[in-house]
Amino acid sequence: MPTTLDPVQLTKEILRLNTVNPPGKEEACARLLGRILEDAGFTIRYHSFGAERVNLIATIGGVPDKPPLCFTGHIDVVPLGAAAWTKDPFAGETAAGKLYGRGASDMKSGVAAFVVAAAGMASHLARSPGLELVITAGEETGCEGAFHLLQDKVLGRAGAVVVAEPTSNYPFVGHKGAFWLRATATGVTAHGSMPDKGVNAIYKAARAVGKLEAFRFQNPPHDLMGQATLNVGTIRGGLNINSVPDEAVVAIDIRTVPTVNHGALLEDLSRQLAPDVTLEAIMDLEPVYTAPENAWMQSVFDVMTPILGARPAPRVATYFTDAAALNLAYSNPPTVILGPGEPQMAHQTDEYCMLDRIEQSVAAYQEIIRRWCLS
Ligand SMILES: [Zn+2]
Repeated sequence: MPTTLDPVQLTKEILRLNTVNPPGKEEACARLLGRILEDAGFTIRYHSFGAERVNLIATIGGVPDKPPLCFTGHIDVVPLGAAAWTKDPFAGETAAGKLYGRGASDMKSGVAAFVVAAAGMASHLARSPGLELVITAGEETGCEGAFHLLQDKVLGRAGAVVVAEPTSNYPFVGHKGAFWLRATATGVTAHGSMPDKGVNAIYKAARAVGKLEAFRFQNPPHDLMGQATLNVGTIRGGLNINSVPDEAVVAIDIRTVPTVNHGALLEDLSRQLAPDVTLEAIMDLEPVYTAPENAWMQSVFDVMTPILGARPAPRVATYFTDAAALNLAYSNPPTVILGPGEPQMAHQTDEYCMLDRIEQSVAAYQEIIRRWCLS
């Protein structure tokens, strides 16, 4: 077996390719993975949406009566942050059972694990329902790569989705949605010494912000996810101290649960905040949720029980994933978030993942593939 098919080695190799986003530059990483999968017998498509911004779709097998199983993961990573690292973030150093580097947990270990799992089983999959591997660029800046895949209609079918984001190999049955809004207040500028000649956009935005702080969701809370949340993240307005500002913009981060209807929420907020601001959606990701009783989810729980030492309880992830975008194309198949990275290490200084979890996840993914494709 070539050394690249060792999942720890492969994680190290792709960690060494700097894909900090922005700017991303995921192409070299996508092509390295593409070559491995092509050698294993997969059909490869590269999908570019900018200079060195490349998604990879790899497929194998396929039968008319059962759709493929999808694995997805992103290969961009977040910036290093202001604090100094004690380890080289791009060297793939290991110590005391840990592999260090930016993206070790979020989520190059997860991508390496499913690539190795899939490549290792490829010779058995040609006449099976098959696999669709969706390796995305630009996830960390709002699922950019995944949205390009949607827009350009390059995705095939998927009957179930495994998102290899960091979960310490604990299967999560979903995550909240992200509904990001921009509220714009407009006014009329005038000299700061004559405010009565103008209309102050900041006052309008401030009234809207006050209402947003007091806003309460009316939907019933979700069993596992609880209630939706709303946070005003940024506010900006005005050009200088001695003018009446004619524009102010507020950015609102809403995390939704399956009992929230995004369209109805936008209408409701627009009504409540009118006429001070107008609202527009700048990102619209629905929650991802599969009922724990779902037969496939139960089968994933079966696979994970011996690995975790106990049967998993239904839990949800705190972050959102590309699945929210991909599932628009796949018509919401059952989706599990399951990956070897440590969720609390995502975006941290001295990010690491546990070496033994990488090996465990390859075994788990292969069993999930076997049950979908070969039984
Ligand atoms: Zn991630």
